[in-house]
Amino acid sequence: MPIKLKATCSECMTMHVADLEYDQEDIKCPACGHAMRNLPEGELNEIETAIKKQKTYNIVALIGFFIALLCFALWVLNQNPDLYSFGRKLPPDYQPDGMMRSGVMFITCAGLLVTLVFGILGSWKRYIVEF
Ligand SMILES: [Zn+2]
Repeated sequence: MPIKLKATCSECMTMHVADLEYDQEDIKCPACGHAMRNLPEGELNEIETAIKKQKTYNIVALIGFFIALLCFALWVLNQNPDLYSFGRKLPPDYQPDGMMRSGVMFITCAGLLVTLVFGILGSWKRYIVEF
């Protein structure tokens, strides 16, 4: 699988997205034809591993965000018994459940924290090849 990397040409300063293959001879600028030898295999391997890790972090961040969103929606719904009943008949003395409400809010905050931390981890490093 090729590794997608941003590459900047030192001759004409054009930036393009290079699909680097392991067995590729060199990296070539599509604008002016300037070329450099491809990165050594070890380096390519390192970059590929790092990018895969970042993708995983980003997925975790996204999942955290959706969980937070869901729990926040529940929290808002719970505040309004008419909505929260989903058509059911609630007892006339219905009170929003305080424990449930703080629990859901806690999960919302935890989910957002997960999103924050993994979002930062997932975008901490950017690889740009200059040649
Ligand atoms: Zn160029």
